[in-house]
Amino acid sequence: IRKQKIIPVAQYGGRHAVTMLPGGGIGPEVMGYVREIFKYIGAPIDFEVVDIDPTVDNDEDVQYAITTIKRNGVGLKGNIETKSEAAYVTSRNVALRNELDMYAYVLNCKSFPGVPTRHKDIDVVIIRQNTEGEYAMLEHESVYGVIESMKVVTATNSERVCRFAFEFAKRNGRKKVTTVHKANIMKLSDGLFLETSRRLARDEYPEIEHNDMIIDNCCMQLVAKPHQFDVMLMTNLYGSIVSNVVCGLLGGAGLLSGRNYGDHYAVFEPGTRNTGTAIAGKNIANPIAMINASVDMLEHLGHHYHADLIRRAVNKTINVDKIVTPDVGGTASSTEVVNNIMVNIGKMARG
Ligand code: ADP
Ligand code: MG
Repeated sequence: IRKQKIIPVAQYGGRHAVTMLPGGGIGPEVMGYVREIFKYIGAPIDFEVVDIDPTVDNDEDVQYAITTIKRNGVGLKGNIETKSEAAYVTSRNVALRNELDMYAYVLNCKSFPGVPTRHKDIDVVIIRQNTEGEYAMLEHESVYGVIESMKVVTATNSERVCRFAFEFAKRNGRKKVTTVHKANIMKLSDGLFLETSRRLARDEYPEIEHNDMIIDNCCMQLVAKPHQFDVMLMTNLYGSIVSNVVCGLLGGAGLLSGRNYGDHYAVFEPGTRNTGTAIAGKNIANPIAMINASVDMLEHLGHHYHADLIRRAVNKTINVDKIVTPDVGGTASSTEVVNNIMVNIGKMARG
């Protein structure tokens, strides 16, 4: 879904400037593949690369990244490592999403026919509140040995993300929205979120079926009977967990891409937001998730020709050629996957 209010700003002669945040771990190498493919097909994108050093003890890099995303309107992002467990070093990823007010996260989860998995033909969309809830980063030790962590749920942000989910369902021909929560225990916070979704469903989107499910049952239902879900709507931490459950069902961390939206900016990234530190530099990281994120970005900017070309070449590589990395049961290296995608692009662009 592309909200009408999101207007990409910097555009010179039909080209778009996009902020690229390679991040840590496998980020730089998978970004390198995206740049190779974009160069090969002549995608009209100019990347403004911002490296964020997670070991530096100030947030100047993050502030600079935020400034460039505000200028460009759009970002492509790898995961930035939060190395330190020291309490004062907060996650740069969370800071970025919060400061850009990207309140909605969208993860399209559609099975790849060529990837062997327990369940076939899953097609769900997870929509997650992306800026508050358990990620408020407000924790303190009230008295010695007692930690309090604030989960912040506001009416404004609940309403924005709930409306986003119903609008998404409406515009994309989806039939049902399921609100996932724990309102039986967290009566006020999750209660507000659940009530907001119920009110919108009843008053503004009567044509869309709405139900709700408690998060624990939801996880069981997902691994056992995933086909009952269509659009899933939830608060921040549940969204993180459920996203990973569904990515696991579909073939792991290396395939799906996720989208962060606010009213003004959009940032695209791999769906599970992994850093992949342990597999960096070994030519084994699955490049697909980041390539799919770049395709989402092209689509968002209206470059449908280039987006379709890459998307078809990627899908053929996974489903027909079955040239995939070990995480999805293949034997190919990262670069072999990328080369195969480029060969497919070459054939498709001519044919
Ligand atoms: P860690 O928790 O050690 O930082 P991550 O969160 O980076 O690990 O990733 C979780 C798991 O997913 C790891 O086993 C990692 O190897 C795997 N993973 C993440 N991204 C990819 C990818 N693009 N290709 C293959 N495996 C990946
Ligand atoms: Mg991690």
